[in-house]
Amino acid sequence: MIYENVKKLLSDIPETNPQGEKVTLVAAVKTQTVEAINEAISAGICAIGDNHVQEFREKYDKIEGDPQRHFIGHLQTNKVKYLIGKVDLYHSVDRYNLAEEISKRSAAANITSSVLVQINIGNEETKGGFEPEEAEEAVKYISSLPALKVEGLMAMLPLTDDEGVLKKLALEMREKYDRLKESYPSFCHLSMGMSGDWRLCVECGSNMIRLGTSIFGARHYDNR
Ligand SMILES: *Cc1c(COP(=O)(O)O)cnc(C)c1O
Repeated sequence: MIYENVKKLLSDIPETNPQGEKVTLVAAVKTQTVEAINEAISAGICAIGDNHVQEFREKYDKIEGDPQRHFIGHLQTNKVKYLIGKVDLYHSVDRYNLAEEISKRSAAANITSSVLVQINIGNEETKGGFEPEEAEEAVKYISSLPALKVEGLMAMLPLTDDEGVLKKLALEMREKYDRLKESYPSFCHLSMGMSGDWRLCVECGSNMIRLGTSIFGARHYDNR
């Protein structure tokens, strides 16, 4: 099924968002087996995103087809050292000390790491990320750190069926992204959209979506 799911998604996802930007599909691979992930890649997935450092490390050398490696989950500062040089894009830079740690470790390794600044667009207590009002200050500070390239913003919309609310928040993210992009030409990714809300997110200007369930089916957390 995974192969068919990916083929169908790749034909369903519009090639570009309303702004004319290419929409990138990142497979959210938490809890998935190496076989499942490799099947998705064989069907055309070009980027995979992990949530857990341990899973990332265990599977790292077993992934075939050389996809881009993204890190999309909450990241503990003391685990950054395991990821340096192996992650093409960190989506979830949600606090200053994490940005500082990625910066410090990247500088020591003589590399530049690409990051997105996570915004808690719904002001939810259960979600990480900078408050929407802090976005500008956060991007400014994180961009000033050595060995980091800030390539845009990431957000997770709240879990609600209220399309009006979702649309308002998604458009607010796109506005923030556009405003910041004027001052930060390195901005090229707005990572927003999961299995339940990706269509709405792309319509509102997302250019990177992270899908798990619609590729792999419902997750079984005992597979890990
Ligand atoms: C799991 C996860 C996704 C994918 O969620 P689905 O609803 O299964 O598509 C996207 N982004 C992040 C950060 C995730 O942890």
